Amino acid sequence: MMSLSDNDLLRYDRQIVLKGFDIDKQQCLADANVMIVGMGGLGCAVATYLAASGVGALTLVDPDIISLSNLPRQILYSDTDCGQAKVDIAKQQLSLRNPDCTITTHSHALEESAFWRDRCAEHDLIIDCTDQLSSRQHLNRCCFATSVPLISGAAIRMEGYVMCFSWQHEEPCYECLSYLFGEEKGSCVENGVMSPLTGVIGSLQAMEAIRYLSDYGARTRGKYLLYDAMNFSVTTLTLKRNPYCKLCARPRTRPGTVSIS
Ligand SMILES: [Zn+2]
Repeated sequence: MMSLSDNDLLRYDRQIVLKGFDIDKQQCLADANVMIVGMGGLGCAVATYLAASGVGALTLVDPDIISLSNLPRQILYSDTDCGQAKVDIAKQQLSLRNPDCTITTHSHALEESAFWRDRCAEHDLIIDCTDQLSSRQHLNRCCFATSVPLISGAAIRMEGYVMCFSWQHEEPCYECLSYLFGEEKGSCVENGVMSPLTGVIGSLQAMEAIRYLSDYGARTRGKYLLYDAMNFSVTTLTLKRNPYCKLCARPRTRPGTVSIS
């Protein structure tokens, strides 16, 4: 990969001067290829911060077009963008903000297929910003099968969570999480969501992505962060793998050999 230019050193100066971060870790961001699945409220925040902070390549996935009710949360889009594909406008806006970020888009739905498992395998990190249980479960299976780390986030009503899955020994997966907390079947359409909540959770996902890609700060294995905006509180829990999980409790011989059907 190309090393950082003088202009990059100026641009990312405030990150590079961080204690223990330095040019090496900024270079890790420049070398990274991250896939963001879902370009709604969470995805807009994640993509904005990752592009701005110097992540070299982003893949944006979303089949939807922009509608008026998206605008309070989905901060990359404007009134005049309604009716256009989210990934197209997001790419345009992110390229304006950081032309050095290489952006690939996919505007077809995340269906069960080897195609998405292969896309996962091409990336260093996957960020789940979807709002559908079936997509979340599918991404979890793809990432488990390919051993690509997954940062999951969700925001609904006045609460949200972030959790990272890096497939280390005894770490839980998204299915284990669903087993513990129940599966959230409703969406923001029925339940509502306060606009800045998606910004808070998306920003936390972006922060975890940067920390993971550059190996900066403490590891968050099995840690689950819950933000309760109604009560101004943040709670972190350490979760264990569910020994009966229908996905990760299966014996694994080596990474990449598990079927995702
Ligand atoms: Zn599991």
